[in-house]
Amino acid sequence: MEHPENDTSYKGLQVNSGVTSQPITNPYRRPARRRRQLTPGEYVEGIIKGDVSILGQAVTLVESTADQHQILAQEVIEKCLPYSGNSRRIGITGVPGAGKSTSIDVFGLHVLKQGGKLAVLAIDPSSERTKGSILGDKTRMEKLSQNQSAFIRPSPSAGSLGGVARKTRETIVLCEAAGYNNIFVETVGVGQSETAVHSMVDFFLLIQLAGTGDELQGIKRGIMEMADGIAINKADGDNIERANLAAAQFRNALHLFPPTPSKWRPEVMTYSGYFELGIDKVWDMIDRYFDYVKGNGYFERKRNEQAKYWMVESINEELRNNFYRQPEIRALLEQKEMRVLNNEQSSFTAAHDVLTRYFEILKSQGSPLKPGDIR
Ligand code: GDP
Repeated sequence: MEHPENDTSYKGLQVNSGVTSQPITNPYRRPARRRRQLTPGEYVEGIIKGDVSILGQAVTLVESTADQHQILAQEVIEKCLPYSGNSRRIGITGVPGAGKSTSIDVFGLHVLKQGGKLAVLAIDPSSERTKGSILGDKTRMEKLSQNQSAFIRPSPSAGSLGGVARKTRETIVLCEAAGYNNIFVETVGVGQSETAVHSMVDFFLLIQLAGTGDELQGIKRGIMEMADGIAINKADGDNIERANLAAAQFRNALHLFPPTPSKWRPEVMTYSGYFELGIDKVWDMIDRYFDYVKGNGYFERKRNEQAKYWMVESINEELRNNFYRQPEIRALLEQKEMRVLNNEQSSFTAAHDVLTRYFEILKSQGSPLKPGDIR
């Protein structure tokens, strides 16, 4: 069909032919100015006011590996500490496909109905391998990501698990200072990251699926021991019966476990994240847990233990990094490895030699630790 514009009676808007654009648009324009770096005080003020943009920038600082960012980040974190702590920290784990994002979306809305704010963080040290962190795609939590009271932050990009976990823990402090009174920390239930999450949350929820027959196979005992609650997802349609059966099996298995340090007996629930069934039930359990551990003093005790744990972890991590970062030590290690493999030296005397050399190097370097070194 002819375009109506070509008709002589056409009265509508017409497109004029344009001019060729100049190769350089305004050569006199000044380059865009970079955003001024906020001072620690400005960060803290913004965070405490609940300014999401400043909170986001502060988290970026925490995640940065640049020295000057780390120094700034540490100052901001320290200043936020007095305002932190007032939240429920909930860890959520489950294998990929268990329905974590679907569930976090509905759990999150459920929590927000009671008022307050929610931050969803993640620990995914494998994100570099899988190209894109687990929470990288906000559409995974469609409803929450449109909610003004929710702050969703993907996992810090890949690094050592200790490093990634530490950044998430520091982000918790910032979020709490910004008034987020519910913190979810998501992790993929396949590796060591559960231990890291467990060491920074108050309640640890394990999302499971029914229907594989032998439900308990393939779940590491350690993960079950950490769980304060097990929620069997996808209890909908034909799957309800299987989910109930799985729940019974989990309950039986949990009976055989030694009592938890909190004296809380982990509970098993079935629900459907997708069809939003049984969400209240799961959340009632979590409410009951918080009442229970706040009542018996375990809540405080666990948080104190976690704070100590993170201090010791940071020391361990920095000692290890400092040691293995020394080029001379790396070379010496290689030599010693050969000698040990050739039975020319025992593992212990080799270790002793390497450590002796390490301490000599430290002595000659004076104080090798600069502010910002610990990350
Ligand atoms: P994640 O990898 O653990 O985050 O899992 P997702 O939330 O992405 O869910 C994986 C798949 O399971 C998706 O196709 C979901 O639609 C589906 N799913 C999640 N929750 C349920 C549920 O309660 N019932 C059913 N039938 N499917 C679900």
